[in-house]
Amino acid sequence: DYPTSQDGLLQLEGSVLEGVIQKANILEVYEVDKNPLGRGKYATVCRAVHRKTRTPFAAKFVRKRRRNQDQMKEIIHEIAVLMQCSSTSRVIRLHEVYESATEMILVLELAAGGELQHVLDDGQCLSESEARKAMKQILEGVSYLHDRNIAHLDLKPQNLLLSIEDSCDDIKLCDFGISKILQPGVTVREILGTVDYIAPEVLSYEPICLSTDIWSVGVLGYVLLSGFSPFGADDKQQTFLNISKCNLSFEPEHFEDVSSAAIDFIKSALIVDPRKRPTVHELMDHPWISLKSNLMQPLSAPIRSPEPINVTPRSTPIGQRKSFS
Ligand code: ADP
Ligand code: MG
Repeated sequence: DYPTSQDGLLQLEGSVLEGVIQKANILEVYEVDKNPLGRGKYATVCRAVHRKTRTPFAAKFVRKRRRNQDQMKEIIHEIAVLMQCSSTSRVIRLHEVYESATEMILVLELAAGGELQHVLDDGQCLSESEARKAMKQILEGVSYLHDRNIAHLDLKPQNLLLSIEDSCDDIKLCDFGISKILQPGVTVREILGTVDYIAPEVLSYEPICLSTDIWSVGVLGYVLLSGFSPFGADDKQQTFLNISKCNLSFEPEHFEDVSSAAIDFIKSALIVDPRKRPTVHELMDHPWISLKSNLMQPLSAPIRSPEPINVTPRSTPIGQRKSFS
């Protein structure tokens, strides 16, 4: 265990950190590709092959300064969280850490299949059995985190990696850049995350909790099964309004062949009051995931939220959406 500070970030003692950071220049040890495998808001990730063993990895380059602000505390937190997650195969493994004058470089286990978002690009979605398989593994990863009071806070298809190309058989969580350690007595309020996946309590600046991730799991379920964002609108303000009112509908044309168990799973996670959301363990026991269900028939009629609400048409497939700055 590593000490946590009041802002929910893990720290590493100077001596521990020194032991973690390799002394060599990464380019002496790895051949790093010029073209990135992926890019997030803050980092660039490139394939890196170990020169001696020829083992391929993914090198995540994170700038030490951002908008003229030192980011070391946040980067060390990300490293420490990855170190705490080394005993689960549902979180991408941290192999080594390097440092350059301007960047910290996290050498990670390579996920050869890239991000789950690529499967959804071009308006695609997953079959229900693929979506269930993916969700089961995502929940396994989230349960590992939540059992250790780690809130990921940025669960979305861009941060879910496939270790096998074109297959949902081995999914891993990555990107702990905005994760937080939630301990009793420590209240974290922050506006962070990605527009379409953000929970209502984050928008209303209420405390962040483990169930903030559960909301994103509900959004993910919707996105994986339909290829559409449940709350996404053309402008951010309308998206936020949809989220805070849980303005949710399951358009028949997008959920035609989807079972009522799957719809019930999504609806059970998308509850505005975070205290009323199920825990990750309760979601793992949901009939859609555990398959102990007689609700597996496709829906014939659309299911709507109980209260009548203004439903804004949402007809654009989910794409690469923006994060908060
Ligand atoms: P950021 O904090 O900038 O979002 P991420 O850790 O999410 O950084 O990495 C950015 C992107 O790089 C991911 O969305 C994914 O496409 C790719 N990526 C990250 N880690 C790996 C990995 N271990 N293997 C393959 N691709 C990766
Ligand atoms: Mg990311």
